[in-house]
Amino acid sequence: MIPGEFEYHRPATLADAVKLLSELGEEARPLAGGHSLIPMMKLRFATPEHLIDLGGIGQLKGICRDGNALVIGAMTTQHDIIHSADIAVHLPILKETALMIADPQVRYVGTLGGNVANGDPGNDMPAVMMALGASYRLEGPDGTRDVAATDFYQGAYFTALEPGEILTAISIPVQPTGHGYAYEKLKRKVGDYATAAAAVTLTMAGGKVAACSIALTNLSETPLLADAAAQAVIGTSLDDAALKAAAAAARAVMSPAADARGTSEYRTHVGGIMVMRALTRAASRAAA
Ligand code: FAD
Repeated sequence: MIPGEFEYHRPATLADAVKLLSELGEEARPLAGGHSLIPMMKLRFATPEHLIDLGGIGQLKGICRDGNALVIGAMTTQHDIIHSADIAVHLPILKETALMIADPQVRYVGTLGGNVANGDPGNDMPAVMMALGASYRLEGPDGTRDVAATDFYQGAYFTALEPGEILTAISIPVQPTGHGYAYEKLKRKVGDYATAAAAVTLTMAGGKVAACSIALTNLSETPLLADAAAQAVIGTSLDDAALKAAAAAARAVMSPAADARGTSEYRTHVGGIMVMRALTRAASRAAA
């Protein structure tokens, strides 16, 4: 449980961090909160020769409003998200989700950028970002580009990040007033990764679902946007038939691995239940 040898770098600016990452090549990795990377290094699943600590770069921290979006710096911690008044008002599903990640010690240092850049299908924030229509700002040797969360995840630990690129911020459209939301996470014990989880945002009008977005955590190699499941409830009053149709459509896109959390069949089954629970709870929070 001791990591291999590495050299530690702590650049003061984003430009220096990108330069270092590009110069040092494949043997270098950005270090954010370290609560996924360091355990991987201790297990020797990751053996970077250089760690580039992003903790000294002030511009990567904080939450600000930009038009109709909230822009969250990559080094903003889960703890910061839980205590942000802007998040509580405009993106309350982020607070709900952050409170279900690990424990307070992990949340004090674990960052939003690290959680979404990691590419671990068990991380909770990526599916929420998909449901919210978020995009990620990436800064690399060739400049800046924005990638939609729905296009970012390509396989387990395999993302759209190119060599030398750093995820600098997450831009999330502010949700409409009166929207409903819920993140339902089944886990074996407090602080565990999800056996299955579902994120839902929706709006209601006249007692019926007017708009809906559903995304899934740890039910495939990547987070999943369950589009057909969302379509199955739009225009309905979320009666039993609509909930069951959504669960069936969501299960059709799941392909969870069998692991210590259960068989693939079990995880697919409970994945559908998480979708129904999240839809029901989101609707109960929405203005009619
Ligand atoms: P790091 O560990 O520093 O980095 C993770 C990876 O992302 C590394 O490959 C790193 O190079 C890369 N990276 C980091 N930041 C950037 C960036 N800005 N640009 C490009 N690449 C970057 N997470 C959950 O979602 N749900 C859980 O239930 C959960 N339970 C946990 C329980 C325990 C006991 C522990 C230790 C961790 C748990 N985690 C869980 C993981 C935790 O949320 C991590 O903090 C998070 O996954 C990674 O964030 P970090 O800031 O620690 O990133």
